[in-house]
Amino acid sequence: MSRIAYVNGAFLPHSDAAIHIEDRGNQFADAVYEVWAIRAGGLLDTEGHLKRLGRSLGELRIRKPMTDAALMAVLYETVRRNRVRDGLLYLQVSRGCAPRDHCFPGEHVGPTVIVTVKRTNTRAANEKAEKGVSVITIPDIRWGRRDIKTVSLLPNALAKQAAKEAGAAEAWLIDPDGTVTEGSSSNAWILTKENTLVTRAASQSILNGITRQAVIAAAQGDRITFEERAFTRDEALDAREAFITSASAHVTPVIRIDGQPVADGEVGPVALALRWSYLAAAHQNSAVPHKRQAGPLVARPAKRRIG
Ligand code: PMP
Repeated sequence: MSRIAYVNGAFLPHSDAAIHIEDRGNQFADAVYEVWAIRAGGLLDTEGHLKRLGRSLGELRIRKPMTDAALMAVLYETVRRNRVRDGLLYLQVSRGCAPRDHCFPGEHVGPTVIVTVKRTNTRAANEKAEKGVSVITIPDIRWGRRDIKTVSLLPNALAKQAAKEAGAAEAWLIDPDGTVTEGSSSNAWILTKENTLVTRAASQSILNGITRQAVIAAAQGDRITFEERAFTRDEALDAREAFITSASAHVTPVIRIDGQPVADGEVGPVALALRWSYLAAAHQNSAVPHKRQAGPLVARPAKRRIG
């Protein structure tokens, strides 16, 4: 079945979907985006993504293209037309299209909205999580407002490519002070030898992941001690477990950093337990119109001992 994209009010074949060359997203990276996981036809963590989208738009003074309810209708219609059950939805909103000029265009220029969806292989993702992934570390060369989810992703793309070339799944970005800020497209976590879960506090230095926020809630539900603070690469190498979180990776254990094993180099139980706690809760929080789900989202494995 051919893919369908949404562009400014129209549903178009993916191959014909286009925006103008003078769109400000194209010329100035003057655009924000969100990525939702689609599971069993539902969009996970709907409210969190909508809230962060509103915040990103507000910080950049880009006009909201439509109400949240109208936007959700567009997102679900795109999912429906593509008949995607498990996958990812990409939404991008730019300041709009205007003759090239650094200053913002006048009020008559409205935002450009595009939505695409793609299928993902849930089984392969689960297998990857069961095996764990490697990360490399690389200097964080991004701008000072990483809390805004803009499409200005060149440093992130360079970092991810470096990871790929090193045979790793992700790059952890290192601040000049030697601490890990986050991954190129994920948040970074460790579980210390004292069984304290640690992730960097939300600030302008990182993107406050929606999965990050949901995993914090899941950890609290699972009664795991939790601390928001920065940590170094060496602390991560010395940790009991490490993992990454994002809408696409959910919770994925990290077993090697720069070629060196985290603890014994095996996937730990806490990261996997959090993956299932997160998915179960996210499914509860997903908005699925018309009750299109069939069966449970996840078959939670037998409870593992934590710690
Ligand atoms: N940090 C960065 C730089 C990211 O690109 C992402 C993925 N969008 C995340 C963190 C994780 O955010 P989320 O959990 O909302 O996907």
